[in-house]
Amino acid sequence: MTHTRKLGILGGGQLAQMLALAAVPLGVRCHIYDPSPDAPAQLVATHSVAEYTNALTLAQFAGNVDAITYEFENVPASTATTLAQHKPLYPPARALAIAQDRLSEKQFFGELGFATAPYAAVDATGSVATAIKQTGLPAIAKTRRNGYDGKGQQRITSLTHAYQTIVDMAGHDLIIEGVVPFVRELSILVARDTFGTIVRYPLVENHHHEGILRLSIAPAANVHPHIEALADTIAQRTVTALDYVGVLTIECFEVVTATGPMLLINEMAPRVHNSGHWSIEGAIASQFENHVRAVSGLPLAPAGLRGMCAMLNLIGEIPDVATIPAGVHVHLYHKAARPGRKVGHLTIVARDMATLMSKIEECRDLAGVWIPPRHDGMHAPKSKRTNKVE
Ligand code: AMP
Repeated sequence: MTHTRKLGILGGGQLAQMLALAAVPLGVRCHIYDPSPDAPAQLVATHSVAEYTNALTLAQFAGNVDAITYEFENVPASTATTLAQHKPLYPPARALAIAQDRLSEKQFFGELGFATAPYAAVDATGSVATAIKQTGLPAIAKTRRNGYDGKGQQRITSLTHAYQTIVDMAGHDLIIEGVVPFVRELSILVARDTFGTIVRYPLVENHHHEGILRLSIAPAANVHPHIEALADTIAQRTVTALDYVGVLTIECFEVVTATGPMLLINEMAPRVHNSGHWSIEGAIASQFENHVRAVSGLPLAPAGLRGMCAMLNLIGEIPDVATIPAGVHVHLYHKAARPGRKVGHLTIVARDMATLMSKIEECRDLAGVWIPPRHDGMHAPKSKRTNKVE
């Protein structure tokens, strides 16, 4: 059987860096394509330094590799189309197109029969008042494209405020979503290979602050059997509908309804994801290994846990590695420190939840962890404490 030996990756950030590191033991070498000469992945992969819209360098890049994947979803559609003409591109371009637009994403999940936050699109012709009627208040206005880590979002508390927001965000197509009173945020990480085999990681519980992921815990504690079954259905139906190859992440809100707990889908990322970083040390095969396997035409490996896992993002400041507690794994991305920028992460794998929680406490000063779970492993109620990372 032939499989990919040279994998092209669009984007050379930390995700590409961790993909390239996972590829080496599988006999796969990575070649990144990124306009920045300092892209973090250039430490561990060969590198084409060129713009995403340069057809000539894209063709040369494609000529150098056996298959192509990407580490961010805002790859210009024309770039994906050009590359797909030369070499297999995974995950498929359709997944990329859907994930690039919050409106198509919500429509896609709606068509599959899954719930999302109430939403309405607002364009030049749309009425804000009608949109707010559909979503209720408070609501969040989000740009349909190019938003990440809470960027391109504004909370709306009144109709007057909504009109002002539309003015502030002029020039962007918007979607307005009702604010979901979620109990917690969960992410579904699923992988599908070219043979159609599907592997799902245990559900991950995520804690955000100011729109940025701070802490992930796997497995999420006290998952209701109905939520587990729903997560399975969402994962299976989504990857099958997209004829997907690679790792897919689906971010969800867990809510309580009159009939029991429910998942509302927030968004999907057709790539490896920050909420899966714990899997490097915490799973039998990490999300990076399984993504490389899938897009290289290799069979998937098991996604089972090696223990109770946590991932803490290092944001804005690079810690002194010598100060990291024993037994805590550190991953630095070799990026310059800037306020609000993800510069690395820590992973903890423990034999039980209590040990995991005390290790998280030990790392608090390094990571400034926001909203820690309670010590019994249950998700915590929202705290009012502010813990800015700038
Ligand atoms: P997003 O960019 O859509 O992933 O949003 C970033 C974070 O903002 C999410 O992880 C949530 O913590 C919060 N958020 C986004 N949309 C909503 C919503 N409709 N209701 C409540 N919280 C939200």
